Amino acid sequence: MNNQKKLIILTGPSGVGKGTVIKEILGKDKNIWLSISATTRQPREGEKEGENYYFLNQEKFKEMIEQNLFLEWAKFAGNYYGTPLSSVNEKIKKGFNVLLEIEVEGAKQIKEKFPESLSIFLLPPDKAELERRIRNRGTEKEEAIKKRLLRASYEISVSNQFDFELINHNVDETVMRIIKLLQT
Ligand code: 5GP
Repeated sequence: MNNQKKLIILTGPSGVGKGTVIKEILGKDKNIWLSISATTRQPREGEKEGENYYFLNQEKFKEMIEQNLFLEWAKFAGNYYGTPLSSVNEKIKKGFNVLLEIEVEGAKQIKEKFPESLSIFLLPPDKAELERRIRNRGTEKEEAIKKRLLRASYEISVSNQFDFELINHNVDETVMRIIKLLQT
């Protein structure tokens, strides 16, 4: 990978609305490709293999770590998540800007390897709103919700290590601001 400016990192706590924001961005800018991660977490209802994630068991995931097949990987709320190296390389070669929707440890690894990448942290308007969104989504059991809320506090505490912090008050406004950042 030689043009490091082509990597965009989008990070933010569970429930902040990354998915909605990304969907809008992809609809507006056809030159952005969203990397599909591998994970050991169970698929949520409606999630599809190869579309939302590559769902792997721990053995396979660890094998891929050993074979250096990840650009970065991290453990989050009890599961492994990682960015497959080959597809990112391929898309960069084809001239796409690659968007990585990853948590803070992975973001740190990418920023260390590719200092020219653009890192954005999406913040919730307030923490109570975040909890409401995670609960309303109804995709996680109580134990997983607690882990995610705990993790959210930690992630927010290190958000100042990112190039830009954006508060997600309103999806349209957030999307506009991100597109502007990509153009500068
Ligand atoms: P979820 O289980 O809600 O889909 O994702 C949990 C967290 O893992 C989110 O913060 C998401 O951004 C992050 N994540 C998803 N894919 C990757 C990845 O490939 N690498 C890293 N480091 N984090 C990821």
